[in-house]
Amino acid sequence: MIPLGEARRHVLDRVPRRVPADLRVGDALGLVLAEDVKAGEAVPPFANTAMDGFAVYSADTAGAPVELEIVETIAAGHAPTVTVGRGQASRIFTGAPMPDGADAVVMVEKTETVADARVRVDVEVPVANHVRPAGDDLSIGQTVFEAGVVLTPGHLGVLDSLGVEAVAAYPRMRVGVVSTGDELVEGAVELAPGQIRDSNRRTLLALASQAGCDVVDLGIAPDTEEAITAAIRRGVEECDAVLTSGGVSMGDIDLVRVILDRIGDMRWMQIAIKPAKPFAFGLVESTPVFGFPGNPVSSMVSFELFGRPALRQAMGHEQIDRPIVRAVADGDLGRRSDAKVHFARVVASYGGDGRVHVTSSGGQGSHHLGAMAAANALAILPDGEGVEPGGDVDVMLLAEPAGGGSFPPS
Ligand code: AMP
Ligand code: MG
Repeated sequence: MIPLGEARRHVLDRVPRRVPADLRVGDALGLVLAEDVKAGEAVPPFANTAMDGFAVYSADTAGAPVELEIVETIAAGHAPTVTVGRGQASRIFTGAPMPDGADAVVMVEKTETVADARVRVDVEVPVANHVRPAGDDLSIGQTVFEAGVVLTPGHLGVLDSLGVEAVAAYPRMRVGVVSTGDELVEGAVELAPGQIRDSNRRTLLALASQAGCDVVDLGIAPDTEEAITAAIRRGVEECDAVLTSGGVSMGDIDLVRVILDRIGDMRWMQIAIKPAKPFAFGLVESTPVFGFPGNPVSSMVSFELFGRPALRQAMGHEQIDRPIVRAVADGDLGRRSDAKVHFARVVASYGGDGRVHVTSSGGQGSHHLGAMAAANALAILPDGEGVEPGGDVDVMLLAEPAGGGSFPPS
């Protein structure tokens, strides 16, 4: 057995980064910027009002209340046409450009329209009151986002606000997924003796897609050299990475290991972890192929430990792993010493103490997919006796812990 760290280094050293490309902002959610983005224009593009009210010359409000003549009404999206002179005001709505002459806004609540074209202003306002200057958010030439930023909905909004239609970013990895095994069938068909339903393919497709990749379903390949070779070859042709499950254990019919060795530069690893000990990783014509074990929990844990970080690294991410936090074990997370690191499936939730608490999510066999599905974290149990109730344990968060404070506060 080799240590987990060595296996990960082997994989991470061999999966190349994608070449950055100009990608449309509409398709860029979750992608990593490959170059800085600079503002080519100011946001907001012009001085405008933050309030509904009246654009005035601030000096005119000295000694308020004062009455001013209304010379124009300016709505958002319309350009002012009249210069506001002394003793005058323009009615103005949020987002509308400030008219020439005016240097402040009085909010409508502090005014009273006393005649068709006359307004009484009840307060004195300083220069720039409620005015949002041009470039107040982003100024021309400013570096808005640096290379390495992971694009969120807010970032996309900023890019749109600047009129940027494409950005230099790392493209999504296109990931093909194939399940191997004579026993596998798909869909709601009646099971013949010995058959089971393929669950790994759906799960791995979903995991890859959740990791920000485009996915290609390469189907089920029965345990023949021809079928598995054809599926892997198709994947290598069409995709940037291929995930297989099954066929990487010790047995004679564990063909993925045999085939990868024949058609690629493959390393078969027995890793000191549980679940997911066997793992075959190879490059076939420089395309990485991840040979995950067939047991459903093992294939998911393998994806978390090798697949996801490698795919994210290829897509330019600096943070390639799920967050790891020190949590409190609410129940027993005991184990036996066996020279392996265990990844126990647990449910994580925020406790009233502000810490993350975990309990086992159920059966810890590598076939207990139900308990894996119920888990939102993996407790990392180094070799030894495990963790007693109340003890500290590092956990890898697969999703947000449940609980925490309520909102709105009651
Ligand atoms: P293998 O790694 O091929 O030896 O398979 C190990 C175990 O996982 C066996 O019990 C298989 O039937 C099961 N298994 C393999 N592939 C899948 C799959 N795609 N979906 C569900 N179970 C699977
Ligand atoms: Mg098999």
